Amino acid sequence: MSDRGAVRTSGKKPGSGKAAGAGTGSPVSPASGDAGDPGHAGLSRGGFPKKIIALVYDFDGTLSPRPMQEYSFLPQLGIDPQDFWAECTRIARERQADPLITYMHLMYKKAKEKGLAVDRDALVRQGASVALYPGVRDWFDEIGAYVRLRAETAGITLRHYLISSGLAEIIEGTPIFPHFHNVFASEYWFEPYETPFPKRVITDTGKTQYLFRINKGIEDLGESINGHMPEDQRPIPWANMIYFGDGETDVPSMALMKKSGGAAIAVHNPDLSPKTCEELFRAGRVDFYAGADYRRGSDLFKRTCLLIDRMLADIRVREEVWGLGR
Ligand SMILES: [Mg+2]
Repeated sequence: MSDRGAVRTSGKKPGSGKAAGAGTGSPVSPASGDAGDPGHAGLSRGGFPKKIIALVYDFDGTLSPRPMQEYSFLPQLGIDPQDFWAECTRIARERQADPLITYMHLMYKKAKEKGLAVDRDALVRQGASVALYPGVRDWFDEIGAYVRLRAETAGITLRHYLISSGLAEIIEGTPIFPHFHNVFASEYWFEPYETPFPKRVITDTGKTQYLFRINKGIEDLGESINGHMPEDQRPIPWANMIYFGDGETDVPSMALMKKSGGAAIAVHNPDLSPKTCEELFRAGRVDFYAGADYRRGSDLFKRTCLLIDRMLADIRVREEVWGLGR
């Protein structure tokens, strides 16, 4: 059910490359009688239905040090990334254009100028050269193992989601793509136009739509997200969600998470100043911040585990209350 979102045109479902129970949408409790991801409605055969935990990540600057276009797309065109982003900003301001549509347009305008055809497959191949912060590759299994260790109730399911203004095609080519239950990212329409045309653009505020989709279990982008759904009917409560981001572009998502009872963590490049994170923390946008070191034992790992401990305890409390009320 999970491949109906942003990556459905790719024909490749995230999570398909992982074994069951490895923390990609399979129940992580060994005591679980649950055969698989409870799915759309989050119902686990008559049991307490709110046992899915969702860790939701931004990509650029959060899982990877630099914007994903800087690893292959811009270098192969011989374009200095700083010049490229400066030109994007200048054009967007001059024309009062959306900065994300501007960058998607400018990428292909530059490629055309250089006589280089970059199709969907080429973008996917570029994903292999995207750098990831330390520990990111193992993070999904390590956090899965931690949840499995601490769950103390059957049927807990851990999912990882990605919401990125970057490109779905490049993300698909990264080694961590199979770990995600779903990937929501900007994407091109390659076929109908001489120059690829934006099919979906995920803006800073637009990211919140996808948080609502995860919360409400409406991941099919063909389904409207705007219908009313009482909080108690939403399969993944806000309290079961943690959002990871790195900066100002994540403020709308972080604000939604905090306002709704979810959690948020800001990360920064461990080699650079944590100033932005400190500001987010002082402004109450995030629960924690830490260097983007995803290895077991890092501050980020420990602080994430603290939030997961609280979440698991909260799930058990709500499960007990739910059982009393039956
Ligand atoms: Mg970012």
